[in-house]
Amino acid sequence: MYSIVIDENRLADIDRFIQAHQSDLVRDISRLVSIPSVEGPAAPGAPFGVESRRALDCALDIAAELGLAVCNCENKIGYASVGEDRGAGYLATITHVDVVPAGEGWTADPFTLRERDGYLIGRGVMDDKGPSVLCLYALKYLLDSGLTLRYPVRALLGANEETGMLDIEHYLKNYPAPLFCFSPDADFPLIHGEKGIYHGRLISRHTPVNVLEISGGVAANAVPAKAVAKVRAEKLRSTGSVHAVELEPGFWQLTAAGISGHASMPQGTVNAIALIVDYLLENEIPSDEELPYFRFISLLHASADGSGIGLRSSDDCFTPLTAVGGKISVENGRIIQTIDCRYGISISGEAITKILKEKAGDAADVLVDADNAPFYVGLDNPAVQACIESYNLVTGEHAVPMTIGGGTYARHFSNAVAFGPEHPERPCPEFCGPIHGVDEAARLSDFLEALKIYIVSLLRLETLDF
Ligand SMILES: [Zn+2]
Repeated sequence: MYSIVIDENRLADIDRFIQAHQSDLVRDISRLVSIPSVEGPAAPGAPFGVESRRALDCALDIAAELGLAVCNCENKIGYASVGEDRGAGYLATITHVDVVPAGEGWTADPFTLRERDGYLIGRGVMDDKGPSVLCLYALKYLLDSGLTLRYPVRALLGANEETGMLDIEHYLKNYPAPLFCFSPDADFPLIHGEKGIYHGRLISRHTPVNVLEISGGVAANAVPAKAVAKVRAEKLRSTGSVHAVELEPGFWQLTAAGISGHASMPQGTVNAIALIVDYLLENEIPSDEELPYFRFISLLHASADGSGIGLRSSDDCFTPLTAVGGKISVENGRIIQTIDCRYGISISGEAITKILKEKAGDAADVLVDADNAPFYVGLDNPAVQACIESYNLVTGEHAVPMTIGGGTYARHFSNAVAFGPEHPERPCPEFCGPIHGVDEAARLSDFLEALKIYIVSLLRLETLDF
């Protein structure tokens, strides 16, 4: 029988490993953060843009320097691996090296890693470049330990998580799936269920009259920090949330500042587009032709729980539905407002579309860009147990797995969970921002603890029969 004893000696050995590699680990995170790997136009050898490709190369370089075997899967995704293939399948972690755009309001260059009071700050440091480096060092531990692995382990490194997950689609189409996979791209303790994710566009049918331009947001899955509009009006006043400037007689520029954050966790955010839309309606700026559309999207912006637009729903497995209008723009004279909706099992994507179309009436067309059903793995799954027990062993907590509204890589696999490394319950200083927000930050001591959790988890997973 295959066994690995996880006793005091083993834990002390892991601690020594982590301590010895701490500064290298931070250096490697900074190497990855320095690449602005936002999706760009496809180029030869770079299906998701040259910066995503550079980040993938950088991560594989780091892995190779650690002595791990590496494989670039057609520049869409890559992996580092440890252990021999024994024909019994393999275990995996999956993270990503692409990021969302930096957005406005950073206190320093987002792509230069900063260290302050034990925190690391930079775009992607938490989502998901730091965790990518943690996985590589977890494999490095397995390599250095000299243990004979029952299952080889791959650290998958995606290059397109933020804008479509075509990386993992490509991988699962062309490579065998892992026996079990955990994805350090979310919160601890462990996520065994993910809400359905619905992305759509609400497209105006009217011709612009008084609202000539409107734009805001950087991504459909982020609450926007900034929105602007150019409107025709006689006289406008600035308010606490919207700044009005007369550009030329009868033409005004409106600017609103909100608080950004991830669309799946809208609590505490302020949607800048919502501020502009409210201002337009309160000041009666839209013409009769424009009014139905702005009234319609104001229902979406009224509340992030979807109650304004009739989408409110909840169930026993998941937290209540969220609905966020993350991005607005004008294309070919039509206003396009995105909608990001995270839903549980008491409503479906079809039902969401039906409700939106009813509310839109003749004012807008409703286009569905993506709809992924909710994902759920049972708590009695031995691999889920191995991971949560490892988490509790290392932290001394008695945590239980949970479900979330975010979509992680896990939903693409039949046997997978999302597993840290964020601790939203641990308070952060004011200079720390959230994932997808400004001044994205991670606590270094949390990362080191997470590395230990991942190493212990992989050791335990090695002992399971799949
Ligand atoms: Zn991520």
